[in-house]
Amino acid sequence: MAQNRRKFLTQVGLIGGAVMSGGLNTNIFAKKINITKKNSTMKFSFKPYTLELKHVFTLATSSRTTTPVMLTKIEYEGVTGYGEASMPPYLGESHETAAKFLSKVDLAQFKDPFDMETILEYVDEIDTFNPAAKASVDIALHDLVGKLIGQPWYKMWGFNKDKTPYTSFTIGIDTKDVIIQKTKEAAEYKILKVKLGRDTDKMLIETIRSITDKPITVDVNQGWKDKFFALDMINWLKDKNVLYVEQPMPKEMVDDMAWLTEKSPLPTMGDESVQRLPDVIKAHGVYSGINIKLMKSTGLREAFKMLNLAKALNMKIMLGCMTETSCAISAASQLAPEVHYADLDGALLIKNDVFEGTRIIDGKVTLTDKPGIGLTKVLPY
Ligand code: MG
Repeated sequence: MAQNRRKFLTQVGLIGGAVMSGGLNTNIFAKKINITKKNSTMKFSFKPYTLELKHVFTLATSSRTTTPVMLTKIEYEGVTGYGEASMPPYLGESHETAAKFLSKVDLAQFKDPFDMETILEYVDEIDTFNPAAKASVDIALHDLVGKLIGQPWYKMWGFNKDKTPYTSFTIGIDTKDVIIQKTKEAAEYKILKVKLGRDTDKMLIETIRSITDKPITVDVNQGWKDKFFALDMINWLKDKNVLYVEQPMPKEMVDDMAWLTEKSPLPTMGDESVQRLPDVIKAHGVYSGINIKLMKSTGLREAFKMLNLAKALNMKIMLGCMTETSCAISAASQLAPEVHYADLDGALLIKNDVFEGTRIIDGKVTLTDKPGIGLTKVLPY
């Protein structure tokens, strides 16, 4: 009996260990740890950079032609991991706030880069908020650890890179003629994304439908304030080959949103409502699914946990981005094989990408086989 109990506990322990390591191949892990030198330290650095956008980016509240980002690095034993914080102004972070946060990050105190949970918990506790700045450390650490192991993260997580979805490609709010032109230019992409929430909503959809019948996704960015109006709009959209409706109502209107999701013939996706891991539970029963973005989640480690929690709750999962370089896009796309929808067009919208990595080929999110997050640096910075 005691022997059986011991055997049982050993099995439980083994299962626990596998979960804690995120399903990694621990043999590879152990081999690499052995070859790291005892006295090596991680050197963390960061640099502000400004992305130049190919087109003016228009949201319901603002327009802009640049996005501030912070490019980060962790150097360890001659290996460099790269990271990035993308900080569109309306989200509350900037070069200044990120520099202030990142100057407090002291990774030299940690001897082992593989101790990711401890390191990233420390980073999270330096200050509240600052999700993009935190993500820039998380991404660099993932890139470094993947390179030390010699494998890309999608592989270590056991994902199949052939299963990545097509990405949606955003057609911005504009005049009818420009929308027609942009829709024609987007021929390569299999799914179009439209920002709704203005009085031009039906015109936008009908204009695109006059050119193509390919699937459309819509993002209302909290723009519909009345649940009956929202339901009427979704019923209208359902016959227009629309895949899902992102953040139809203000995030505070939780009860109305739950009502809408229950009645909606299309999946509803929470974006502004869902930042980090605890928000996934709050979104359950309110939305059909969630939009995971590294710049909200504080990086890959928490995004991976959000993905698994959403799966366990049988929710739809979409993977989104900001305008960002191929660094953050390549990091996010390591999760892409396991999501229902991808909205990873961020690096396609900029003129001065610093990296090559995950690419969009014939509309599909296409991962590289390179270790870490799969990057090659193409511009010095
Ligand atoms: Mg959105």
